[in-house]
Amino acid sequence: MPAQPEIDALRDAAIPDRALFIGGRWVQASDGGRRDAVSPIDGATLTTLAEATAADAGAAVRAARAAFEDGRWSRMAPMARKTVLHRFADLVQSHALELAVLGVRDNGTEIGMALKAEPGSAAATIRFYAECADKIGGEIAPTPDGTLALVHREAIGVVGAIVPWNFPLMIGAWKIAPALAAGNSVVLKPAESAALSLLRLAELAQEAGIPDGVLNVVTGAGPVVGEAMGLHPDIDVLAFTGSGATGRRLLEYSARSNMKRCYLELGGKSPNIVFANAPDLEEAAQAAANGIFRNSGQVCIAGSRLLVENSIHDEFVRRVVEIAEGLTVGDPLSLDTDIGAVHSQAQLSGNLAAVDKARNEGGTVLTGGKRIREDSGGYYMAPTVVDRVAPTAALARNEVFGPVLAVTGFADADEAIALANGTDYGLSGAVWTADLSAAHRVTRAVKGGLLHVNTYGGSDITVPMAGMKQSGNGVDKSMHAFEKYTDLKTVWMKL
Ligand code: ADP
Repeated sequence: MPAQPEIDALRDAAIPDRALFIGGRWVQASDGGRRDAVSPIDGATLTTLAEATAADAGAAVRAARAAFEDGRWSRMAPMARKTVLHRFADLVQSHALELAVLGVRDNGTEIGMALKAEPGSAAATIRFYAECADKIGGEIAPTPDGTLALVHREAIGVVGAIVPWNFPLMIGAWKIAPALAAGNSVVLKPAESAALSLLRLAELAQEAGIPDGVLNVVTGAGPVVGEAMGLHPDIDVLAFTGSGATGRRLLEYSARSNMKRCYLELGGKSPNIVFANAPDLEEAAQAAANGIFRNSGQVCIAGSRLLVENSIHDEFVRRVVEIAEGLTVGDPLSLDTDIGAVHSQAQLSGNLAAVDKARNEGGTVLTGGKRIREDSGGYYMAPTVVDRVAPTAALARNEVFGPVLAVTGFADADEAIALANGTDYGLSGAVWTADLSAAHRVTRAVKGGLLHVNTYGGSDITVPMAGMKQSGNGVDKSMHAFEKYTDLKTVWMKL
């Protein structure tokens, strides 16, 4: 962990105006459009970004396609691709502090978490897939009569990656690293409001030796650049993390254009299910609080629902409230801060509206529910706990993406399972119990791609990240991610 003076030395560093990265060159938007990058720390303008048009998105796709077809990367020896990607990971690692501070100024995540989850995780992800570049290959099928059937594993072509603002480097790396390791070209669209660290990442990719046109970064509006990508006939795969509403649109764009494959990671409403016989209720309370309040709840796997066995409800919830009230919400670039800024004014307003609605639907706000540190000019929200949330209430069903915990009691395991499965989502969740059979039964019954027993939020590139139900499809992370970025082709050979 760096010391505070090292962070402070970077907190006001000037950020140049940024352009689009297309075909290895930095170019302006074709109509000269620009957008301010606003910091949620204090509402100040950090710099300006090029605001791409649909035509600019098309130019990026053309550059990616040309690079793919001429084989400068797609037919490079896999071992050579591996070397370049390792160099890329090294550069991300050696620029970790710079990338983390830049990202925090752009999106408000507390620096301790950003260092680990952003450059730290991106470097580990790029390294993991670099290592795979020359280890993924085809098969020879065991045909009944020994006829030769070769099963090739091929790069698909041009991958469009559309990513959100909460963890741009980490989520960006989950998409681009396996896509590049397999030999594809990529067009990456950062979120409108958190592009700075990804633009810097593109510079490091070029420095590492990723050939021009293989990785392109286009900043601009979702409904313009993202839509152009979704409808583009020459993008083969879309890899997306973001809201369900946008995911739905991407499926439509795909249907209306070339039926490109769409892999969607769409968030959740994940339950922490706490039984009275949890081995360590204090640990469970800490995890329940961390699981929803870190990064102001702007985490797709946030444990946004707390389901507590009725017999311990009051005491357990009291402890979670105590922890929430003890958290330091403040300057995300201070190492003493537990919780940083909410990403934007719009996000903050949405969070507050969700709490109001919960109150109107019968929930009891035990703590928080309000904006704080308004004098700073930034967007901060007190960690919020809403008790007695009915399973039918919006707060029990809809993702808020803010530091708002919905608490509901349950009588037994059957009721806990029914509550846990009572949303359209199926991303994450946890069971806290000392009863191994109950842990097994509940984790098998709850729909979710990432479940935990007596812990929450473990993360490693070796494990798949996958949603069930309307939390999405396809897998980020682990070797399984290659299924999205490679095709299998069988060739029968009569010799
Ligand atoms: P969030 O609510 O987390 O901001 P969004 O789905 O709006 O989630 O944003 C995630 C990403 O999707 C961003 O890069 C955003 O620009 C992009 N996006 C938003 N709207 C569209 C759209 N209509 N088509 C394609 N991409 C979009």
